[in-house]
Amino acid sequence: MNAWIEVDFDALRENLRSVRESMLPATPQVIGIVKANAYGHGAVAVAGELEKLGVDRLGVVWASEARVLREAGIRAPTLVLGHSFPEDAPSAVRDGLTLTVHSMEVAEALSREAMRLARGAKAHIKVDTGLHRFGLNAEDAIALAEAMREMPGVEVEALWTHMANADEEDDSFSEQQLERFTAVAERLAWIPVRHAGNSSTALRRPELRLSAVRMGLSLYGIAPSGFGPDPGLRPVLSLKARLARVMELGPGEGVSYGLTWKAAAKARVGLVPVGYGDGWKRQLAGMGEVLVGGRRCGMVGRVMMDHFVVDITSVDAQEGSEVVLLGAQGSEQVRADEVGARAGTIAWDVLASLQARLPRLYLREGKVVARS
Ligand SMILES: *Cc1c(COP(=O)(O)O)cnc(C)c1O
Repeated sequence: MNAWIEVDFDALRENLRSVRESMLPATPQVIGIVKANAYGHGAVAVAGELEKLGVDRLGVVWASEARVLREAGIRAPTLVLGHSFPEDAPSAVRDGLTLTVHSMEVAEALSREAMRLARGAKAHIKVDTGLHRFGLNAEDAIALAEAMREMPGVEVEALWTHMANADEEDDSFSEQQLERFTAVAERLAWIPVRHAGNSSTALRRPELRLSAVRMGLSLYGIAPSGFGPDPGLRPVLSLKARLARVMELGPGEGVSYGLTWKAAAKARVGLVPVGYGDGWKRQLAGMGEVLVGGRRCGMVGRVMMDHFVVDITSVDAQEGSEVVLLGAQGSEQVRADEVGARAGTIAWDVLASLQARLPRLYLREGKVVARS
């Protein structure tokens, strides 16, 4: 393989355990978020592993993402967080998905299908408390919930919301959002489950753990922001490659499109077979560092679709030598949050960008147990 991803199932298990322990004595349900191909880790494999580890629920954004999990045989309760259309109702009922319902049309379609298939359908209702992404304002949420309470075949299982400033240093707006959410929840006391927190909110704000927490980045081993307590998470994903070519350059010779970087003196550079077509950010040109021979080496010149160039003048490396773009080599480590900062973006983006072209190896105790 030229380049590949390694997913450490042991780290995933430990992160789930750490997250649960850090929230004691509260014991909210953990909704393992596996949207966007499980943040690049591989949705089917990660969801299957989380199911085995006893996660309470899985969460995705689109019904289509949930259907892929069902087709792969994953049976864990699965919540669709995003917008659904009435046309999603038949497969949602058939596959036992939990839709977030935003309209009477979707609610009625669910009820109809549930009656037709003689199978109950569970639904969650989202309250927009200030993020203004989706969800219903307070009065509409209450009206929809009360209408659904009377509909045959559907059960409103949960009420939820999402924080706008969860990952900001100052997340005090969450207090106002909680107040607005609580006002709705008090009017709908018959709905049993409440959830409001992503990783950051759940770790920083015990009062927002409620009955369930939606954990994404923390399960993948990256502390979501530097602001909350760090429960000792371990990155789950490593991105590795092998040098495709090593070149000796004379002073003034350039590399990659536009020859934007030129060797100041005699230099050795290596060609890394990963590019923006794999999701490796083009903004890392001249900014990124990767590990070769156990040392940090700078990325030089433009990132191409399938390759970039690394300056290996100071290390001992040949064609075929291992390059670590994310993960550890020797005593050095490169993390997704560091790469995000260097690329002017965030860890979520760095991970979720990683494309299907990269083969994924799933490891337990250092041994490959599955591939995708
Ligand atoms: C993606 C997402 C999450 C998970 O967020 P993390 O910061 O990765 O834990 C939680 N809730 C919703 C609604 C999301 O879309």
